[in-house]
Amino acid sequence: MPLPLPVSLSPSKVSSFTDCGLAFRFSAIDRLPEPPSVAATRGTLVHAALERLFVLDAPERTLPAALECLDAAAAALRDDPEFSGLELDEAAEATFLAEATVLVEKYFRLEDPTKVTPIGIELKLEVELAGVRLRGIIDRLELDADGELVVTDYKTGRAPGERQEQQRLAGVAFYSLLCERLFGRRPAKVQLLYLADPLAIIATPTDRSTRGVERKLAAVWAAVERACEREDFRPNPSRLCDWCAFKAYCPSFGGDIALADAHRAQLQLV
Ligand code: SF4
Repeated sequence: MPLPLPVSLSPSKVSSFTDCGLAFRFSAIDRLPEPPSVAATRGTLVHAALERLFVLDAPERTLPAALECLDAAAAALRDDPEFSGLELDEAAEATFLAEATVLVEKYFRLEDPTKVTPIGIELKLEVELAGVRLRGIIDRLELDADGELVVTDYKTGRAPGERQEQQRLAGVAFYSLLCERLFGRRPAKVQLLYLADPLAIIATPTDRSTRGVERKLAAVWAAVERACEREDFRPNPSRLCDWCAFKAYCPSFGGDIALADAHRAQLQLV
């Protein structure tokens, strides 16, 4: 029986499918739960702190204010299962908060937030393109000195190597396409701010990059449709398996794919 199609594509789903079709299936189609990870939750916290920072008036966006935003964001996150599920002891929690503090401090080495003119924070964008629903969250949309749109995406992991950089830039083109379709204007610049390094990767979207991402999305969607029709999502073992939450379901690790079918069937009954 064919598998149900996922409801949408996002930059992370596209790279998940490209990295390992089976992991994509487990996440986007079977919707298997993924336990929280320290790295992902630290990213959530830092994003929430920067979101609070940009609610302040421009002159107030100082480092001490950012650290207050971090404290407030940490307090708000405390009861969230994404944080409580980590079950950190006192020492591990102190390390977690100290690492988040370092990321916020390093952010100030990349740009001066008092000079930024945001027009949207944590913007959830959605467009329909050739029958595919595209969804993405833009961390920050702003206007530059010439009134042009700039998309900023914060990254709390390390900057990518050369191969992964191409994937990240495909994500950039995705955001640019969403803006173009929704606002009728292509951003002048998309910047990925890697806070840990700290390093900014800046791309200028062009006709060519927009056409390239449209072609890639069409190809990925066609491949997903084919795989759903044939119920054929294959594992692609790689270093990424070290971080994969689905090994108990993955045949490459002795897991049982039928457990994923059972989970999906359960969700469909609810
Ligand atoms: S363990 Fe590796 S091969 Fe298996 S689903 Fe996860 S990423 Fe894919």
